Amino acid sequence: MRYAMAIDTRKCVGCSDCVVACQTENNIPLGYARDWISETVEGTYPNLHLEIRSERCNHCDNTPCVRTCPTGASHIIEGGIVKVNPEDCIGCGACIQSCPYDARYSHPDGYVDKCTFCDHRIKNGQDPACVSVCPTYCMYFGDMDDPNSEISKIVANNKIKVLAPEAGTKPQIFYIV
Ligand code: SF4
Ligand code: SF4
Ligand code: SF4
Repeated sequence: MRYAMAIDTRKCVGCSDCVVACQTENNIPLGYARDWISETVEGTYPNLHLEIRSERCNHCDNTPCVRTCPTGASHIIEGGIVKVNPEDCIGCGACIQSCPYDARYSHPDGYVDKCTFCDHRIKNGQDPACVSVCPTYCMYFGDMDDPNSEISKIVANNKIKVLAPEAGTKPQIFYIV
């Protein structure tokens, strides 16, 4: 089992429904977020293209955030999901510094927080909250270890990119471009 997400940037309209759904589902305090919308201009003039991306923790295969955590609070669970155990977190911020994607934030209650792929929903056979509300159906979630899963086929059959591949973290959020 290797959970991953694919997001079709060609269909994303930047509505932020995924961000609001995450904040509601996971009781994120006002002013903080586990996911966010990023807009970048791709190409060269006059052939410019605005790429809109829904971003979050990439649940990387190679995890500097886990390696640098001095207490073991940052850890990996079944399916490759990277999590933080708030009880073991001392709020030192080493993981925040080591993440190339700025995917973690300091929760006002004194621990570090980030996307969990909504593992509490996955256990019940549901998609992550963001995926479940996207009005353009541009987000896909599933098992990359299963060649017959929808996400495996989508990643195999489309032009895909990952963010900051040069960081060597082997991110598991795939963007269809
Ligand atoms: Fe894009 Fe879907 Fe998020 Fe809206 S909900 S910003 S369309 S990924
Ligand atoms: Fe760790 Fe950042 Fe990768 Fe998430 S995106 S697993 S926080 S290095
Ligand atoms: Fe580990 Fe918490 Fe320090 Fe991050 S802030 S490195 S999770 S103890």
